[in-house]
Amino acid sequence: MTKIHLLDNETINKIAAGEVIESPKSIVKELVENSIDAGADEITVEIKNGGKSLIRITDNGKGIEKDEVEDAFKRHCTSKISTSDDLNSLYTLGFRGEALASIASVSHVELITRTGGDSYGTKITLKGGEIISKEDIGCPVGTIITVTDLFFNVPARKKFLKSDASESGNINEIVVSLALSKENISFKYINNGNVIFRTPKTNNFLNTISSLYEKDMYNSLLKVDYENNGITITGYTTNLNYYRGNRKQQIVFVNSRLIKHKRINYFIEAAYNTLLPKSKYPACFLKIKIDPSLVDVNVHPAKTEVRFQNEDNILNEVKRSVYSALNSNNIMKEIKKET
Ligand code: ADP
Ligand code: MG
Repeated sequence: MTKIHLLDNETINKIAAGEVIESPKSIVKELVENSIDAGADEITVEIKNGGKSLIRITDNGKGIEKDEVEDAFKRHCTSKISTSDDLNSLYTLGFRGEALASIASVSHVELITRTGGDSYGTKITLKGGEIISKEDIGCPVGTIITVTDLFFNVPARKKFLKSDASESGNINEIVVSLALSKENISFKYINNGNVIFRTPKTNNFLNTISSLYEKDMYNSLLKVDYENNGITITGYTTNLNYYRGNRKQQIVFVNSRLIKHKRINYFIEAAYNTLLPKSKYPACFLKIKIDPSLVDVNVHPAKTEVRFQNEDNILNEVKRSVYSALNSNNIMKEIKKET
């Protein structure tokens, strides 16, 4: 042990990277969220070997100003909030200013970016957080970020990466969820050179769902369209002909942010009463819109955990929204007959 002292930046970043960047999947999530926040309506996600050898996100968003490119990689540097008050009215997915610094500290990164106001762009490369080169480059408006050699300088983490197939499965799941979060963005997903899907840009949630899932689910979807006490819940939930052995197809967004909240899943299922077979789960895609001051997203660096004010109230609204979708399609009649 030595005397108490402030850690150097490199070490601070590596420690933080442990929380924000657990896996290739979390890198993909953070980078796509940046593209969404940049106002892109076309986002391409490309990965190789489960993201271990390559993750590349290309967007047509607003790009980064030349003189801000280096700052983007500094810890706690963000263009999205200025004061803690802004956390009460958050409309962006990012706000912590940690992702790029964390990702760059544990990989090789190349970022090419150009804003609409500039006639040429900037290319910057970093290795383990250190800037290696920075130059002007001709490129379209938007941002292309390429991450290679993940965890090259953190052998302990590299060792814990799962197989390519398993990491790639996790990435598939997150890209599908992110694509569902924004029906007005076209997502293209390429895995080991194969185009896995491309979503349309139609402002129609059902079109997005149908471009991502098989037909039997599509045919079972019931519309959720609910509003009460300032909470709006829209989306789709499946009828009794469709169910799965896990909850992977229950995807919930709060103000366009993908969230994980076990109790929400339980309340969705509660609407089905006992109508689905034991240990079977419906597919359900819900978009909850709520006053941002009633949601705390600053619970964990990964930002998928949220806390609600009046949680029980919101959970009951979720249950009611799903129940009324089932009810308006006469599914509840079947429930009454059976019970
Ligand atoms: P945060 O998203 O929390 O602000 P990040 O580390 O993810 O932090 O990004 C830092 C900053 O870099 C962002 O605030 C944004 O200004 C800029 N940035 C990152 N990615 C993009 C992108 N794809 N397009 C435009 N700007 C970006
Ligand atoms: Mg971000």
